[in-house]
Amino acid sequence: MDGGYNGDAAQGGPHKQVFFPRTLPELFTVWKRFPDAVPYAGGTDLGKGQERKYSLELPAAILSLNFLEELHHFTRTERYIELGSMVKLNDILTMGKIVPHAFTQAVARIASVELRNLATLGGNICHPVKGPDASAALIALDARYELRSAQASRWISASRFASGPSAANPQELLVRIRIPLEQWDYTRYTRFEDRSLAYASGGSMVVLARSQKNILTDLRAVFAGESVLRDKNSETALAGKRLPLDRRDAAHFIDLWKTYLSAAEGPDPFLKARIVHGIEASIRELTD
Ligand SMILES: Cc1cc2nc3c(=O)[nH]c(=O)nc-3n(C[C@H](O)[C@H](O)[C@H](O)COP(=O)(O)OP(=O)(O)OC[C@H]3O[C@@H](n4cnc5c(N)ncnc54)[C@H](O)[C@@H]3O)c2cc1C
Repeated sequence: MDGGYNGDAAQGGPHKQVFFPRTLPELFTVWKRFPDAVPYAGGTDLGKGQERKYSLELPAAILSLNFLEELHHFTRTERYIELGSMVKLNDILTMGKIVPHAFTQAVARIASVELRNLATLGGNICHPVKGPDASAALIALDARYELRSAQASRWISASRFASGPSAANPQELLVRIRIPLEQWDYTRYTRFEDRSLAYASGGSMVVLARSQKNILTDLRAVFAGESVLRDKNSETALAGKRLPLDRRDAAHFIDLWKTYLSAAEGPDPFLKARIVHGIEASIRELTD
C-alpha cells in the first residue's frame, strides 16, 4: 500500500494520515488499525468547510478509495446495470440510454458540471446530509447497494439505506450500486429547491408509471429528502386502471396522498404542499 502523509504531526499539529489501498483486504486492514479513518471518494463533501466554503478541514485519517479498481467498474446484464461506488456523476451522464431516465435526470441536477467531474455516486449516497439528490430515483427504481466489511458482504435496498438512521455499520464500505433495467413509460423528476439549506435542495421526487395495453400495471411515487415518503396504498389503488386515468380515480389517488402526507412526520407544511403539487402535476399528465 502507498504510504501516508503526516505533515501536521511534524509541526506539532493533529496527526494526519492518508492511505491509498489498492485492494479491499488492504483497506480493511488499515481500517482495523485506524478505526476512525474516513473513506474519501471525490472529496467534494469531505473537503468543504463551513457554509459551503472550501477550507479543506479533512479528518485526521483518510482512506482514499481512488486506487481500488473494482469500485470504478460499470457493468450491465439484461436485467440490471451495476455501478462501482467510485463512478463519477458526470460519467453516468455519458453512459447513454441504458441508464434509466429518472436516474440521469436526478444526477444531472446535482451541483455543477465541475463538481460532478469529481463527485462519485458512492459519495452522494453516503454523504451525511439526508436525502442526497440521487436517492428518490434510486429508491423508485428499486436499486440495491452492496456493503462490504472485512468479514462479509451484504445487499441492502436503496429504500432501507435511505430510511435508517445509519444503515451502514461502522467500517462498512459501499462497493456497488445495482439498478434494475425496467421499461418505464412515464417518468417525472422534481427537485425542490430550498435556498435556506446546504446545496439548496429540500429533497426530490420521482414518479414512474408503466402500462400494458393501456392498463396501468405499475405506479411509483417517491419523495426523498429529510425523510423518505412513499404511499404504497395509493399506488395499489391505481394499479389495473385504464389509461388515460378517469378523473375520479385521479382525484382519489391525490386524496390518498394528502391523507398520507398529513400523518407523515418530516417535511414542513410548505414542502408538503409542494409535494402534493408535484403529485397532482404527474397525475394530471396521466389523466384524460
Ligand atoms: C458546492 C457544493 C454543491 C453540492 N451540491 C449538491 C447537490 O446539488 N446535491 C447533492 O446531493 N449533493 C450536493 N453536494 C454534496 C456532495 O458534494 C455530493 O453529494 C457528492 O456526490 C459527494 O461525492 P464525493 O465523491 O465527493 O464524496 P466524498 O466527499 O468523498 O464523501 C462524502 C461522504 O461519503 C463517505 N463515502 C464516500 N464514498 C463512500 C463509500 N464508498 N462507502 C462508504 N462511505 C463513503 C465519505 O466518508 C463522506 O462521509 C454539494 C457539495 C458542494 C460542496
